[in-house]
Amino acid sequence: MSGAAVAVPSDRLLGLDHNERLFPAPDLIPLLARVPATALTRYPDMKGLERRLARLWGVGTDRVLATGGADDAIDRICRRYLSGGREMVTVVPTFGMMTTFARLAGGRVCEIPTLDDPAPLAPTLDRLGDRTGLVTVISPHNPTGQVVPPPRMLDIAERLPGGAMLLADLAYAEFADRDPTEALLGRDNILVVRTLSKAWGLAGLRVGYVLGSPAAIAALRASGPPFPVAGPSIWLAERALDLGDRVTADYVSAVRSERARLRVALRDWGAEPFPSEANFVLASTRRAAMLERRFRRSGIAVRRFPNSPDLVRITLPGDEATFRRLLAVLAVGPRPRVRRSAERGVP
Ligand code: PMP
Repeated sequence: MSGAAVAVPSDRLLGLDHNERLFPAPDLIPLLARVPATALTRYPDMKGLERRLARLWGVGTDRVLATGGADDAIDRICRRYLSGGREMVTVVPTFGMMTTFARLAGGRVCEIPTLDDPAPLAPTLDRLGDRTGLVTVISPHNPTGQVVPPPRMLDIAERLPGGAMLLADLAYAEFADRDPTEALLGRDNILVVRTLSKAWGLAGLRVGYVLGSPAAIAALRASGPPFPVAGPSIWLAERALDLGDRVTADYVSAVRSERARLRVALRDWGAEPFPSEANFVLASTRRAAMLERRFRRSGIAVRRFPNSPDLVRITLPGDEATFRRLLAVLAVGPRPRVRRSAERGVP
């Protein structure tokens, strides 16, 4: 967006536009100084990290692949299942890298344009055919925040043609009421993608992972570089997983309570918030550009979408003081109040 009216340089803006956690879990900070020197000098070994992830989900290590963020996981999956013009079925709008990686892999994208449902059954089934390589479901969905019931995902997987996969991207699952991972692990044609970038607050480490059948995981392991995650990232991610809920619980519960409050504030402002189970809220308003400008003047970056000019997505900070800065922007309604003539002192 252009910005004659923009008062704050973008590198100083409070970034509520990328669904990141703003402040790391306090227990992790002292660990930064304790990264062992071998994490710097040796080629990294992902086995310890994958063992922890396997334990977390109660599966064998042959069903886990650690990746350089969920991005690397999606990239590998697209290259494995979409090369040669095979098709990805996906709703749009969706997480941008999903369709970017699909096209980079030489795949075609079959879009289902909708903001109502992140995995509409009938339109998805309509698009399945011989060339289908992947159906992607993101739950909670980015950008809407809506969830897909696990039975729907299983239903889609059951009807996929042979050789095709359901890619279930659960990057935001920790913020939702229910985690569908275990329900999805029962089927060989589902790949679950997860990340430590969101609820764990470790986007800078670039650690994600895929859970799937041993055969699918072996194929994905062979579809990318041998050392996708840096040694210090592996070491810190292992420590974070050992701490478990101590890293995620307070932040997740702060986000959940802010979510409800932000939806009320957006509605009071005159926008229509979508129901969300993620760490962000999407809202629709004809005054989206104005709202973005107001946030910007208050030093806050929010997300707009060039192809959907009425939408604004706001990351929940998980921090009361920061959250109040958000509410303060919304406390002023969309229009400056027009004073009636008597108030202006006009006779
Ligand atoms: N999937 C979704 C739905 C996302 O929104 C994002 C990042 N915003 C990713 C995957 C990529 O996450 P990572 O940082 O683990 O690469």
